[in-house]
Amino acid sequence: MLRELADLVAPVDCVGCGARRAHLCPGCRAEIARAARAGPHLARVCPPPAGLPPVWTLLAYDGAVRQAIVAHKDHGRLALLPLLAGLWRRSLAGAVEGDPVLRAALLERRVVVIPAPSSARAWRERGRDPWEEVVRHALAGESLPVARRALRVRRAVRDQAGLGASARARNLAGALAVTRDLTGCAVVLADDIVTTGATLTEAARAVRAAGAASVHAAVIASTVRRGRPSG
Ligand SMILES: [Zn+2]
Repeated sequence: MLRELADLVAPVDCVGCGARRAHLCPGCRAEIARAARAGPHLARVCPPPAGLPPVWTLLAYDGAVRQAIVAHKDHGRLALLPLLAGLWRRSLAGAVEGDPVLRAALLERRVVVIPAPSSARAWRERGRDPWEEVVRHALAGESLPVARRALRVRRAVRDQAGLGASARARNLAGALAVTRDLTGCAVVLADDIVTTGATLTEAARAVRAAGAASVHAAVIASTVRRGRPSG
């Protein structure tokens, strides 16, 4: 906590390139803005797990945006929160614009936004949920409700890093539970990144089991699969 406070007042280095005296220097901000110019689009998850909702994304999980997400989540760089919130909000806007089912639900005020739970470790070490804070910031002043701590991890799961797609799916199957009734709701699952889709698929299963009428997802970035043909 003291280090986080110190970060707010003392000079720091850019998480993207190491430049002095900026959490994210103008050059790295410009890099992210350039990459985001293409606008939100549906993420290509190959192969998509059965039950994966449509996932809207803004950026490739690479370069400065990757550094910013990791620095905020794992190293407590709170100053990056507004940037991440703005990026996620654009992805959500893409989902609303591109998905007529979600748009109709929004007009009927049936939409609930549910942030993916931060890892148990993040809770233990910092006593807060950094990702939920990003989502709440993104929707501050909006009438769109954010269901806080609606998704619970109900059993121990292994760290997903280093696991392949099928191992991730097995690791997470049945791991999440929803703490409220979602009957008739259109749920937007909010996460920072999508990789294999295992987390969003398990979250979608849990919210459907709680009665959700439709499930949608918005993330900031999706992982780039290098060396594979696109399509
Ligand atoms: Zn930089």
